[in-house]
Amino acid sequence: MSVPPRIGFVGLGIMGRAMAMNLVKAGFQVTVYNRTRQRTMEFADLGCDVAATPRALAKAADTVIIMVSDTTAMDAVMEGPEGVLSAFSGGNTLINMSTLSPAYTAALAKKCYTAGVSFLDCPVSGSKPAAESGQLVILAGGEKTAVEKNGPVLKAMSRAVVYAGPAPAGTALKLCVNLIVAQLTTALAEAAVLASAQGLDPALIFETLAANPALNCGYFGLKKENILKMDFSPAFPLKHMLKDARFMLAEAAARKIELPVTAAAEALMSRAAASGYGDKDLSAVLLNLSEPLGRNRPAA
Ligand code: NAP
Repeated sequence: MSVPPRIGFVGLGIMGRAMAMNLVKAGFQVTVYNRTRQRTMEFADLGCDVAATPRALAKAADTVIIMVSDTTAMDAVMEGPEGVLSAFSGGNTLINMSTLSPAYTAALAKKCYTAGVSFLDCPVSGSKPAAESGQLVILAGGEKTAVEKNGPVLKAMSRAVVYAGPAPAGTALKLCVNLIVAQLTTALAEAAVLASAQGLDPALIFETLAANPALNCGYFGLKKENILKMDFSPAFPLKHMLKDARFMLAEAAARKIELPVTAAAEALMSRAAASGYGDKDLSAVLLNLSEPLGRNRPAA
C-alpha cells in the first residue's frame, strides 16, 4: 500500500474547519494554517502541527489543500515570500477547494504546471452540514489520473467526486451548480414574502413542497428554519454567493450570453450586502424584500 500523503490544510472557516477535521478523523497526518490563529487551537489539541505561515505549512506537506474565501485570500496564502508557492520544489500536489473564478483557476493551474506541482481544481457542492458529515460532492478538474490518485484524500471529505475535465472545469461546473442554489434561495425568500403579504403563513409553502415528491428538495429543508425563524446564522455566507454570482455574470458576459435571472439575484444580494448582511446566511436576502417579514430586522 502506498504511503498516505502528509496533508497541509489552509483555511479553517465554516467549511475548511469541518473538512480538515474529517481528514484528521480519517487518520491523515494534517498540518494546519489559518490567518486567525485562534481557529487552529482545536487542531493543536488533537495533536496536529500548526504552521506559522503558509510557506512553513507547504514545507511540511506533500499535498496542500486550500479552502479560503476568495481570490484575495488565495493570493494572500499562495504568493509572496511566505506563500505556499514559495515552498514548492516539484512533486507536490495542490488541491484548491475554494470557489474562485475560472480565469484565476486557469492561471493557478499554469503556475503549478511550471513549478512541477500537480494541481487539482476541486470546489465543493454542499454546505456546512455536508462538510461536517463528510458528505460533500467534489467537482473535480485536472488530470483524471491525478484526481484518481488523490481519491483517498478526497473521499475523506466527500460522498462523491464528479470529474468535470481539465482545470478549470471543476470551477466552471461549480458556478453552474451555484447558479441554481442562488436562484432557489431567492425564490424561497420571495415566495415567503408573497405568502406573508397575502396573509398566509410561509410555513405552508414548506409543507406543500415537502408533500410533493416532485418539489421535495433537500435544500429547501436546509433553508426552512432560516426563513421561518428569521435566523440567519451563516451556513453559506451571503458575501460568498455574491462573489460567485459575479463570477457567473462575468463568464456569461465574456461569452456573450445573458443570465437575466442570475443578474436579478445578484442585484438582490448586492442590496443585502450593502445593508450589512454579507456575513449572514445567504437566505438573509429575505430581509431586503419587504416590511411584513422584514419588520423585525436583526441588527446588521
Ligand atoms: P469562511 O467561513 O468565510 O472562511 C474563510 C476562510 O478564508 C477563513 O479561514 C479565513 O481566515 C480565510 N481568509 C479570508 N481572507 C483571508 C486572507 N486575506 N488571508 C488569509 N486567509 C483568509 O468561508 P467558508 O464558508 O468556509 O467558504 C470557503 C470557500 O468555500 C469560499 O470560496 C466559498 O464560496 C466556498 N463554499 C462555501 C460553502 C458554504 O456553504 N459555506 C459551500 C461551498 C463552497 P480567518 O479565519 O482568518 O478569517
